[in-house]
Amino acid sequence: MSKLYIPGPINVSPETFAAMSRPMIGHRGSEFEVLYASVQPMLKELAGTTRPAYLSTSSAWGVMEASLRNLCAKKVLNLCCGAFSDKWYDVARSSGLAAEKIQVEWGEAICPETVRAKLEEGGFDLVTLIHNETSTGVMNDLAGIAKVVKSFPGVLLVVDSVSSFSAVPVNMDELGIDVLLAGVQKALALPPGMTVFFCSEAALERAKAQPNRGYYFDFIEFAKNAEKNNTPSTPAISLIFGLQHIMENVAAEGVANRYARHKANNAMIHAWGDRHGFPNFAPAGNESVSLTCFKKPDDFDQSAFIKELKARHGFIINGGYGKIKGLTFRISNMGNENAATLQALIDAMDDVLGS
Ligand SMILES: *Cc1c(COP(=O)(O)O)cnc(C)c1O
Repeated sequence: MSKLYIPGPINVSPETFAAMSRPMIGHRGSEFEVLYASVQPMLKELAGTTRPAYLSTSSAWGVMEASLRNLCAKKVLNLCCGAFSDKWYDVARSSGLAAEKIQVEWGEAICPETVRAKLEEGGFDLVTLIHNETSTGVMNDLAGIAKVVKSFPGVLLVVDSVSSFSAVPVNMDELGIDVLLAGVQKALALPPGMTVFFCSEAALERAKAQPNRGYYFDFIEFAKNAEKNNTPSTPAISLIFGLQHIMENVAAEGVANRYARHKANNAMIHAWGDRHGFPNFAPAGNESVSLTCFKKPDDFDQSAFIKELKARHGFIINGGYGKIKGLTFRISNMGNENAATLQALIDAMDDVLGS
């Protein structure tokens, strides 16, 4: 049996799988309404919002693309600092939208003042930001960037919190985020196939006036159905059973404890890297707390290390994503990982390194 420590999909607990295998229910009945309502309070708390949580049966890209199509009437500014954020710009272009980007080197963070300078050029009505760029392990200054975007009336902010949701606070309402989204296979530790998202009232106002929103990803359809604790089309009901289980776990642990656990666990991996001379790919102050991306030292045989870790111990870490594949390696501490499970990984990695 092998165990995933890659930054998504991540390891799913047997308890979650057990919760998911409850008998099927119809999605237009009261049982489903109760299920849908049951996950709302904790999802809202994690998002820092009073807005309802919508459940999209799609991976994160479904809602990332939908945000562009529902909200961009003029021109979108994509903030690009890695594989996922760069691709959001490509998706805007392939959706036929007017789009511009701020591009920084992979491994760097987006600077709020650069965003201000670009928005001052005018013409934009939407900004996309990836809070935690999973490909590079960089966590952007969400509060700083949100504050800048908020100072431009009529510019909405979409935030991808796929690998940060439930690992760090996101404070949607306080920061004035208009769409917040998270695929469930990363920090929420569910199997892939669903995305949780929230829309501000301003986002829904904008969407209403947008032609050609289609049906499956129409934010107005999600909002209408959420009023009845429902979804526009048949949702991944088993995943929602799993989500209910995860939300119960979060409630039992306490949100603040969950955030503290991620921070402490991430620090264990950082300390391991320091001990072996593996530098962090992210700049100081912008390191993710849900995963760590290490820069491969020149004389280090990374692929042999990863292979041997799997062969000897069954632990799977990731050897880099996109154009930094082979040059970096990534370790996730998302979801249910704790001090003991990370210590087991550290011991195994030390064994492979012969130290
Ligand atoms: C994994 C990931 C995505 C893409 O998610 P899919 O589930 O493949 O659609 C988007 N954004 C971030 C930050 C991610 O980590």
